[in-house]
Amino acid sequence: MRIDVISLFPEFVAQCAAFGVVGRAGERGLLSLHGWNPRDYAEGSYRRVDDRPFGGGPGMVMLIDPLRASLAAARAADPAPVKVIYLSPQGAPLTQAKVRELASRERLILLCGRYEGIDERLVQAEVDEELSIGDYVLSGGELAAAVVIDAVARLRDGVLNDAESAVQDSFEDGLLDCPHYTRPVEHELGTVPPVLMSGNHADIARWRRQQALGRTAQRRPELLDEAALSKADRRLLDA
Ligand code: SAM
Repeated sequence: MRIDVISLFPEFVAQCAAFGVVGRAGERGLLSLHGWNPRDYAEGSYRRVDDRPFGGGPGMVMLIDPLRASLAAARAADPAPVKVIYLSPQGAPLTQAKVRELASRERLILLCGRYEGIDERLVQAEVDEELSIGDYVLSGGELAAAVVIDAVARLRDGVLNDAESAVQDSFEDGLLDCPHYTRPVEHELGTVPPVLMSGNHADIARWRRQQALGRTAQRRPELLDEAALSKADRRLLDA
């Protein structure tokens, strides 16, 4: 998969994606990241990428032309169809379902704003989708782009050692994940639930499902409204 990032700080995004499973995906050629800096496409000796907002008010707005030229260069670098995403607090919330959809694509361009944001005309003309990573405001889109890259890359074939582990994660089936334990069995902080050492796979699966249901009911009850629950799930929830 190829992801192009348009940002005033493309190295920052590359650094965020240089560690752990996502970093290894890059080393193994499963993910190729390319940064494009609008400043490299800006005119004049100051290489200006922003200007004051029409109508007055605080802050600066990113200029159309350096962004447009960066986008054109990124698009031209690979002929595969590409979706252009602007990371924005005004975008649709990023969900695991959206991440799965993005991970099924071969190319993405992630556009990172700074200052007060990007001239709206560029957004209207070039952007396919706006995505937000939460209801708060960051100083730039780079961290949001890094979040998208991380969440998407780990779903690509071959990136995780055990692809099953992604399927069991929170949100994949509409529920939060169950709790996890490892050695030692006995610790001053507590004992591992005995069912996990029973060797009975059906009991373990039932316990995990019940934990996932209980946690979801307790922490994110609204998720249960959308989750496809079976009769057995309802019984576990009521137990
Ligand atoms: N004036 C904008 C608004 O209130 O909607 C906020 C601009 S913000 C300071 C600068 C840039 O950070 C945005 O253009 C966007 O790229 C990025 N950004 C900020 N918060 C974000 C969020 N929650 N999700 C995704 N990107 C975000």
